[in-house]
Amino acid sequence: MVSFSLHRSPRARRAIVQNLDMNTLEQQFPPAQHDHADCVASAIQTAEKLCHERGLRFTAIRRRVLELVWDSHKPIGAYAILESLGEESKSAAPPTVYRALDFLIEAGLVHRLDSLNAYIGCPDPASRHAGQFLICTNCRTVAELGDSDVEKFVAGKARELGFTAVRQMLEIEGLCKLCRTQLQNA
Ligand SMILES: [Zn+2]
Ligand SMILES: [Zn+2]
Ligand SMILES: [Zn+2]
Repeated sequence: MVSFSLHRSPRARRAIVQNLDMNTLEQQFPPAQHDHADCVASAIQTAEKLCHERGLRFTAIRRRVLELVWDSHKPIGAYAILESLGEESKSAAPPTVYRALDFLIEAGLVHRLDSLNAYIGCPDPASRHAGQFLICTNCRTVAELGDSDVEKFVAGKARELGFTAVRQMLEIEGLCKLCRTQLQNA
């Protein structure tokens, strides 16, 4: 829920409206201390709702894999998912896990980060967006931008070269605020 302050300049207000129209995620890096169980619960709830609306089956294995992907705000590899599942049940064969991951990616619930060969939960799967990911190389926490301005800019530049952009994945490496502060004070 975004509230508008009357004290904002018209320009600032316009910027907010524009952002709303363009479905910008503006996801923040999660605070160091927060109730992550809430993040997981909300991700599962969103997934249930989205699958229901689209007539997709949110099976037990798909739910469990999504829970494991949301285990933290750091990307997780397929092998780590397999290991956790293997401890829980013997039926977790690699194809099962990969099929579940494919489903979650297709539904927009999970993104695959190619540079890390790992998976991250999407905070806003209901909106169509290009993936722009800020990856902290120190703590591996990932935040998603999903900014349609960036997407349009890149698509426009590509079009100038006669190239039709179909899928955009921007993986940007750097340091999150928390790590930068910690490293500065070390
Ligand atoms: Zn969290
Ligand atoms: Zn996303
Ligand atoms: Zn960090």
